Amino acid sequence: MTAAKSSKTVRNRGCAETAAAVRDGSLTAVECANAALEEIVERDGELGAFLEVFSDDVLEDARQIDLESHENRAALPLAGVPIALKDNICVAGHRTTAGSKILEPWTAPYSATVVDRLRAAGAIVVGKTNLDEFAMGSSTENSALGRTVNPHDLERVPGGSSGGSAAAVAANLVPGALGSDTGGSIRQPAAFCGLVGFKPTYGRVSRYGLIAFASSLDQIGPLTRNVDDAALLLEVISGFDRRDPTTVDGRHESWFPTNPANPQSLTLGVPANWFADGLAPAVQGALEELLGRLEAIGITLRPVDLPHERYSIATYYVVATAEASSNLARYDGVRYGLRVRHNDDPGDTEDPTLDHSDIDAMFAATRTAGFGPEVKRRILLGTYVLSAGFNDAHYGRAQRVRTLIRRDFAAAFELVDAIIGPTTPSTAFKLGEKRDDPLSMYLSDVFTVTANLAGLPAISVPCGSDEAGLPIGAQILAPPFAERTVLEVAKLIEESSDSGA
Ligand code: GLN
Repeated sequence: MTAAKSSKTVRNRGCAETAAAVRDGSLTAVECANAALEEIVERDGELGAFLEVFSDDVLEDARQIDLESHENRAALPLAGVPIALKDNICVAGHRTTAGSKILEPWTAPYSATVVDRLRAAGAIVVGKTNLDEFAMGSSTENSALGRTVNPHDLERVPGGSSGGSAAAVAANLVPGALGSDTGGSIRQPAAFCGLVGFKPTYGRVSRYGLIAFASSLDQIGPLTRNVDDAALLLEVISGFDRRDPTTVDGRHESWFPTNPANPQSLTLGVPANWFADGLAPAVQGALEELLGRLEAIGITLRPVDLPHERYSIATYYVVATAEASSNLARYDGVRYGLRVRHNDDPGDTEDPTLDHSDIDAMFAATRTAGFGPEVKRRILLGTYVLSAGFNDAHYGRAQRVRTLIRRDFAAAFELVDAIIGPTTPSTAFKLGEKRDDPLSMYLSDVFTVTANLAGLPAISVPCGSDEAGLPIGAQILAPPFAERTVLEVAKLIEESSDSGA
């Protein structure tokens, strides 16, 4: 490797820039892969972003890209781009733990559709990143398999649940990563780590091969260092998949490269209740400054009313836990991962025989040993809200409120092109600060869960930092399938923040 191509020079490139360099021959895929591996070895010890690095496959996959003919390589949108995956996305032949002891021994027999699409586009999948167990959490502290810290301040959380993916991209270990977002798990870590994080419209990206948390809310999306890279990754992974019947047909679009929106013809809605009490002063200040800048370049700002939005956290924690309790019923020691026969058994997965004499004890012992406290809390809550006699009072009511929230947005989008607000109420908090206070942890999702309840595309884009230098994110939401609007507004913010900084 020549000095000019050392990992230090390769590592600062984003996804689009890396792919362009590999296509024009100024970098090889092997050089990109080596740079990512070197960075991971050097820095991930302190960050804890990765649960597994595919060291052997990475160089072999990269070599294959380098062996392609020039014409073939020129057609690969992500030629040689190292990408990390949240460890709830399956890659055939590799463990997919979902950050849980119960799945720790499980090897995925197939790859997620997003993985096949990334590889077909020339990307190199470098490994799996840490997450809150089953994607339940906002700090990555609920992982049973290790802790991840924020590269901006090693004593703070990277956000969650896609904290490993966010830390890996923010620390320049890889140019891009995928996360999943059920109530904010891409956008909140993006905001905490100074990245762009995009949750697409529900139905835009296949969930085949994603370990399900709450199936009516889950979406996979990109975490990147700039808006163009988010557009590029999204373009590659989105589109109809016959293996996920909720994906939409005939809507595949191209968003890369993204042009900034024309400010003169743009009206942005500002929900008054998103700027109320409880917002950290630095976040409030950064958002207000951003709104001022946007107005100064000709954007029309208009207050919008989302009257049912205040029920969104309660609604989310009923819907998400109900769906989770049903989705997680399959982890019982029979088919996937850990099996513990009785309370004194340390757990084994080797012996496939089952002792049918006390199968209930085996279910209970497996789930007791395999699930962590937050997952158990959610299974209990979800089972309760679905139970006979309470179902309509809780789950049925939450579904009706969800419809009202969706209608609020539909009415707002009659008046404005997109909605803008903060991604999170505060900047990254300290490790341990909210760990023992689930309610305060849940409240850190107050601005993000609505997009999932309404199925809308929503992005977090950096818009400044607080007095300690911790990043702040602005969130843009648009009508279903208006990914283009989201990206164009985000690009405008990115440009205005670059020039305003
Ligand atoms: N923090 C939220 C939760 O714990 C959202 C998680 C997610 O989007 N996966 O449910």
